Amino acid sequence: MCDKSFFVLLQQKKTNTLTYMKLRFFFLHLLFLLGLSLSAQDFDAWFEDNTLRIDYIFAGDATRQEIYLEQLYKQPRWAGRKARLTESPLRGNGQLVVADKLTGQRLYTTTFSTLFQEWQLDQEAQHVQRAFQCSYNVPFPKRPVTVTVTLTDKHQHTVCQMCHTVDPADILIQPIGENGIPYYYIHKGAFRVESLALRDSTVASLNSKPSTLNKDRDYTATPYDPLAGVDITSNVDLAILAEGYTEQQMGKFYADARRAADALFEREPFASLKDRFNVVAVAAPSPEAGPSVPHKGVWRRGVTSCHYDTFYSQRYLMSQNMHRIYDALSGVPFEHIMVLVNSDTYGGGGIYNQVTFSTSDHPTFKQVFVHEFGHSYAGLADEYAYDDMDTEWYPADTEPWEPNVTTLHDFASKWQDLMPKGQPIPTPLDPRVPDFKTIQKDDTKAMALLNACTQKVGVFEGAGYQSKGCYRPAQECRMKINEVLDFCPVCTRAIRRITEFYTAK
Ligand SMILES: [Zn+2]
Repeated sequence: MCDKSFFVLLQQKKTNTLTYMKLRFFFLHLLFLLGLSLSAQDFDAWFEDNTLRIDYIFAGDATRQEIYLEQLYKQPRWAGRKARLTESPLRGNGQLVVADKLTGQRLYTTTFSTLFQEWQLDQEAQHVQRAFQCSYNVPFPKRPVTVTVTLTDKHQHTVCQMCHTVDPADILIQPIGENGIPYYYIHKGAFRVESLALRDSTVASLNSKPSTLNKDRDYTATPYDPLAGVDITSNVDLAILAEGYTEQQMGKFYADARRAADALFEREPFASLKDRFNVVAVAAPSPEAGPSVPHKGVWRRGVTSCHYDTFYSQRYLMSQNMHRIYDALSGVPFEHIMVLVNSDTYGGGGIYNQVTFSTSDHPTFKQVFVHEFGHSYAGLADEYAYDDMDTEWYPADTEPWEPNVTTLHDFASKWQDLMPKGQPIPTPLDPRVPDFKTIQKDDTKAMALLNACTQKVGVFEGAGYQSKGCYRPAQECRMKINEVLDFCPVCTRAIRRITEFYTAK
């Protein structure tokens, strides 16, 4: 009798659990129908606290593009956002949507741009077909999902779309974890998860080495828990990956990574957002020191296969092998990637929600890194123009999705609200502001005038590489030149907004 009662109770409990799950399922669908975004609480209903890494090949030429699925991986922990899951504050040149396979309910969205799409505007794409690697991290689903990848053109029209199913029980999803490459947090954001605080107190004694970061020492020799005291859920996770540093140069790498983080947090808006960022340095060793510099005939074996002369532009330092970058970061919680290249040659690159490349030893290191991070983190466009640019990046019939440039097609959606009353459109250049090309750095009066103009909002013609038909918000800005200290108010707002999005609860 006792046994029987037990089974009845068990059965009732099961039924109650099933009823609860059904109700919860129904409620979530109701939320979906009402158009509400999935919250952090809903995250646990649909996703594990793990990462699904999806590798794609994007291939084609100027007129034809295709997307191929290459490989699926499962990684421990999820470092991305757990709230505002189905929102996409910036459109990007591509979108990735995860939906419930059974109902089609949208569960997670991310947007991005790619090197592949930049290349499609290059002359080479007129007569050659090429393939580029891309990798994306999404939260690991609890039930089968569909993943839809869409690539759009400069008119924001869909040019290519591919949809595939991911069943979390698929035996060919390869589990991967840490790859033996040491990583170390050089900056930890504010602690906002209580359960982690408890864990932290038990391992804090193992993790007491941050004061020695600038010294040339072997960090790998000291055992410590790299994740102790790190709230990867609530903060933006930036990984700085070593490129072109040999095993013996890892002390230099950590010091360089520290300088990069200091450069980022030195000025607004990042200074006041510092508590919302974690910065982890990933010490991947290269067999040879320095990167490949094709215009000097130098090719070296590295971590990311990056090189200067991307698309034959000397200073464009980039890699088209995103799979290798993700391999090097395997097991590290990250959302944004900076590849720090051990070099004193000027160069870099940044692609929205993909990667930033910057060099360690050029005198403009700080400025270039913060500028390139503006691209990859906040989707900011370049605010400079070329007089001889023959490619149209921003057609007049389309409002760019980048927050800091406009074609005036839909200016109300941009920074119209920040315009001073009576400011003419287009805004003429202020003749009192000195030319940045001829300015003497020690001329404090001239430098003050140059820096002051970054904060005066207008609509200045010449941006997005185009001297005509594309407009920027300030005469000068960090997204235009390296000589000024600050972002313009429009770029500043864009960085604050995207940080709010990533760190929302
Ligand atoms: Zn700006």
